[in-house]
Amino acid sequence: MKWSQTHLYTFKEAPNDADITSQQLFIRSGMIKKVAPGLFTYGPIFLRSLRKFEAIIRSELEKESCIEVLMPMVQPRELWEETNRWTEMGDGLLKFKNRNEQWFCLGATHEEVITDYIRFEVKSHRDLPKNIFQIQNKYRDEIRPRFGLMRGREFLMKDGYSFDLDKESALKSYWSMYEAYKRIFNKLGVQYRIVEADAGNIGGSLTHEFQLLAEAGEDALLVSTGSDFAANREICPAVSPKKLEEALENLKEVEEFPTPGLKTIEDLSKNLNLEKYYLVKTLFVSISEPKDSDLKAIAILVRGDHELNLIKLKNFLKLNFEPRLLNDQEVFQLSGAHPGSCGPVGLKIPVYVDNDVLPLKNFIVGANKDGYHLKNVNMNRDFKPEAIGDFRFAQEGDLDPTQPTFELRTYRGIEVGHVFYLGTKYSEKMNARYADKNQGTQLIEMGCYGIGVSRTLQAIVEQNHDSEGMIWPKSVSPFLVHICVLDVKEPALLNLAESLEKELASLGVDVFIDDRDERPGVKFKDADLLGFPVRVTLGQKGFEKGVGEVVLRKGKIKKEVLLNQLKASILDALEV
Ligand code: ATP
Ligand code: MG
Repeated sequence: MKWSQTHLYTFKEAPNDADITSQQLFIRSGMIKKVAPGLFTYGPIFLRSLRKFEAIIRSELEKESCIEVLMPMVQPRELWEETNRWTEMGDGLLKFKNRNEQWFCLGATHEEVITDYIRFEVKSHRDLPKNIFQIQNKYRDEIRPRFGLMRGREFLMKDGYSFDLDKESALKSYWSMYEAYKRIFNKLGVQYRIVEADAGNIGGSLTHEFQLLAEAGEDALLVSTGSDFAANREICPAVSPKKLEEALENLKEVEEFPTPGLKTIEDLSKNLNLEKYYLVKTLFVSISEPKDSDLKAIAILVRGDHELNLIKLKNFLKLNFEPRLLNDQEVFQLSGAHPGSCGPVGLKIPVYVDNDVLPLKNFIVGANKDGYHLKNVNMNRDFKPEAIGDFRFAQEGDLDPTQPTFELRTYRGIEVGHVFYLGTKYSEKMNARYADKNQGTQLIEMGCYGIGVSRTLQAIVEQNHDSEGMIWPKSVSPFLVHICVLDVKEPALLNLAESLEKELASLGVDVFIDDRDERPGVKFKDADLLGFPVRVTLGQKGFEKGVGEVVLRKGKIKKEVLLNQLKASILDALEV
């Protein structure tokens, strides 16, 4: 393809609202154009990457006998009412009425539509198993679309769903998708980790996320220094490395002492010259349903050097909504003090205690009186816990929960894929059954599997770029070779570029020719920005000497090559 024959415009500057590098590079290189927050036009160059990625996905899913379909993006309210998700999904679901006053939503995910399809067609145990997928646009009314394609409102997803006779075969389907996803991300040639994750409101119990490692990632991951264990910070079990000597101490008498102006753990620890873990934080959380007007509150104790994890609390209490922290006024009404001076002693609400508070003795908490704390507080003697559990975020340096001889390290990740075992959550609500061998009927066992296709491509660039531009891996680079023809008025140079394009095309190597009448500097800058793996420079001076230049985009390694060796040298550089 020639630059002059496509629709490609590059820009020196990124718009002010582009916050992360890959987003800036995508916009500057004309790969995408923002239409409105979270909505983008994909340009012709980007579309090539997208098609290559789709081809990788399709080829791996074919190996697992997955069947491709295409479902509508507009979906009727009635289906979503069957699973309660018309209301449960909240404002993330974009809802609207048609001219006949019928309600619809834009598909944020397709469990309802696919389960409806299956329950209509599948009658007998002989019809199962089935594994069905599509590659299609989703719409989620994200509160804050940002980072370009990473968190769009409309985005391209591959979503797949498995339907099995029983749990055992459903788990087999789950693990075969897990392996297929591994092959897909290995083929991409990117650095990623598979982590245990929270099921969110999709439901189910067994679930893994595929996370591309990148500093700008929104997800925090904890990865073992020695074993295969890796988990999203949202759910990672917390195992403290500290063996506290204080556990041997005798219980002392509670004492109130003034701490004027000292509200944060940081300030207290500095002023009292005490380790942070000795200072126990008391946090107040509402566990009332969001629509309830009555406040149902609990207090939670975590060590001063730890952080409360509301997702763990939600899962522990089996809530189907996210609990929220109380505001200062609500805290004052319940404890008689403002945050920073609150504690568990004398509270009238249930007190939940994190596991790591358990071994502490004679610790310090707020006195429920502004400007005062209590020392030598002890659980069971001074307050009674409602329950003890893992309520904190795991952190760097904690122990690997599967093999405590190893530690956990933190990484940032971008969630690019997600596999869930769903069980009968949807088939039960939507009555999707099959006739078994004994004249009975059984609920269909399900799993669902997603890949954020558009997000992944930008994530790849977030992981692979330098100060000059993108560095595409071969797997999904829009083109493999970028030929800069420096003197376009010289027909022999263009002819040479075109014959190279043809010869390489027959070997499956796609070539992009910059045939614009631009200065060499402009062409090189654009080639670096676009970041295809190999650049070839053909100029008049070199041509007269019988040479051209081959440059590897990664590391910018340059080599002068005889013209009759160009093809071989390009193939060599691409390792094909
Ligand atoms: P996130 O936690 O990032 O909001 P999610 O867990 O809600 O994502 P899933 O329901 O698991 O997303 O969807 C499958 C995949 O779709 C995700 O792994 C992600 O790669 C992609 N995806 C989800 N939301 C977006 C979005 N707003 N923009 C682009 N891709 C997205
Ligand atoms: Mg997810």
